[in-house]
Amino acid sequence: MNLAERDEKVIWHPYTQMKSPLPHIPITRGEGVYLFDENGKKYIDAVSSWWVNIHGHAHPYIAAKVAEQLTTLEHVIFAGFTHEPAVQLAERLLPLLPGSQEKVFYSDNGSTAVEVALKMCLQYWVNTTKKPRTKIIAFKDAYHGDTFGAMSVSGRSIFTEPFNPLLFDVEFIELPNAQNIAQLRSKLNYLSNEVACFIFEPMVLGASGMLMYEAQYLDELIETCQKHGILTIADEVMTGFGRTGKYFSCEALQNRPDIFCLSKGLTGGTMPLGVTTCNSKIFNAFLSDDKLKTLYHGHSFTANPVACTAALASLDILLQPETLLHIKRIASRHQEFAETILGHPKLKNIRQNGTILVMEWETGGDTSYLNGLRDRLYLYFLERGIVLRPLGNVLYILPPYVISDEDLAYIYQNILQALNDI
Ligand SMILES: *Cc1c(COP(=O)(O)O)cnc(C)c1O
Repeated sequence: MNLAERDEKVIWHPYTQMKSPLPHIPITRGEGVYLFDENGKKYIDAVSSWWVNIHGHAHPYIAAKVAEQLTTLEHVIFAGFTHEPAVQLAERLLPLLPGSQEKVFYSDNGSTAVEVALKMCLQYWVNTTKKPRTKIIAFKDAYHGDTFGAMSVSGRSIFTEPFNPLLFDVEFIELPNAQNIAQLRSKLNYLSNEVACFIFEPMVLGASGMLMYEAQYLDELIETCQKHGILTIADEVMTGFGRTGKYFSCEALQNRPDIFCLSKGLTGGTMPLGVTTCNSKIFNAFLSDDKLKTLYHGHSFTANPVACTAALASLDILLQPETLLHIKRIASRHQEFAETILGHPKLKNIRQNGTILVMEWETGGDTSYLNGLRDRLYLYFLERGIVLRPLGNVLYILPPYVISDEDLAYIYQNILQALNDI
């Protein structure tokens, strides 16, 4: 039996209808922007392996640091104990975030980072008031993860459908624009003293189709929230660590969120790790002689030293001036290419933010995630050695920052060809 056949016997894959799945390609090796399958075929990882890989695969510097940590301290319980990688990562991460973020709470992935943020906000109100606020505001098309709290604050979709009756109530609002911003602000004003927090993906909504909106309007929403004491959570799980051209997407804002959620690019795509940071306003609300005001949350692998070490190594690379130059280079290549396909009759919309380039295909009406176009595009690019994984009819490039101009050109050229062929 080959690996694909053995896989089929024992594995249940994520986001996959297992009755008739597309083939699962056995990958044996990764190097830089490339993945290699068991026949030696090379693929450009143009989606950074689900948006996590920012510096390329099997990065020798990260690998060396991780290897060293593995033979020094692989794990230790993080209640009652601490260690250098966790403290150092927090020390280095907090000043990088826009605003005055004071504390880091570790968890395992993006969904748990969101769960922790929601719990911080809800308990903030329990700890500080007699009649705690419980309402949460989120964008109608948001995606914040797959655990129950994270699902609840995500838009209702085919992903959440079987669980909708069990998800808690959330006040969903439209993405802000010039036309609706006044109305959204008056809705916030109206609901103000019931609302515990507002959670958002800053400027780019990932999984719901790489939707984009302008910083100016998010700024206005945050300003309105702050006027009413509504806590704000920036879910930078996807946008963080350079993805949108800055280290963090919220750098484009004047107003500062109270909480940040980070994961995906945090360890350079090497290990799972989640981070929730908060300012002193939130943290201080949990300081008390009353034990009930404690944040009773944690995971077995909270602040795993190996994962924290991978994050430190990834940060070393991210903070090198060359990395920011690569990010800017990718953004300009994207821009140049976008200009050449502007107004293409097969494309409904082209949009870009930093290293993310999005091409929304015309589908003649059916725009759903399950649109048949999706599989055709996906297989088309795989055949040509490019991993692009459209969200329905939304094709996007979201590459590791080490991708070369040649590889970008190869992807663009194949997209042009696809526009002809499909
Ligand atoms: C992917 C994602 C999450 C969930 O992260 P996981 O690590 O997959 O649990 C949360 N928020 C955003 C914005 C994401 O893109």
